Amino acid sequence: MRRAVCPGSFDPIHNGHLEVIARAAGLFDEVIVAVSTNYSKKYRFSLDERLEMAAETLASLRGIVIEPMGEGLLAEYCRQRGASAIVKGLRSSSDFDYEVPMATMNRQLTGVETIFLHAEARYAHLSSTMIKEVAGLGGDVSDYVPRAVQRRFAEAAGAAHD
Ligand code: ADP
Repeated sequence: MRRAVCPGSFDPIHNGHLEVIARAAGLFDEVIVAVSTNYSKKYRFSLDERLEMAAETLASLRGIVIEPMGEGLLAEYCRQRGASAIVKGLRSSSDFDYEVPMATMNRQLTGVETIFLHAEARYAHLSSTMIKEVAGLGGDVSDYVPRAVQRRFAEAAGAAHD
């Protein structure tokens, strides 16, 4: 069984993530979408919401497991879960510069490999941060996020008007 981990905070999950996860699912028997929590970071969505949005969105894909990653080392998490690879999407050369030292460290720690998939051009400008900014200012993000995420933004906007 070839198992990979796609880690991230997914705050919220967007179409760039989905595209990379779907491509990873085509390469591995099982892909664990590991939703991270860093207690020094402020999230727009709670861990439960981030897990729910990912689960709703990925329900139709085979071979996907969604779970919280906790706060520990990613390389150790992969070892415990029997995953031989981490799959990451690369949007730009700055993503590459940021990711390669981490990939090297993870490999040195436990032998886990990191596989980079180049981001699909139409999603390469997307980040969760940009989506939150645009949606927060009333912009339409429906081309960039799945329904489960659109719904939560709409609920939040509705609650703000009550
Ligand atoms: P972070 O872990 O920095 O909070 P995210 O949770 O948003 O980042 O993303 C998790 C991973 O998803 C990133 O490490 C990156 O590999 C990938 N990713 C993010 N945005 C995109 C995109 N637009 N296209 C392809 N892959 C992406």
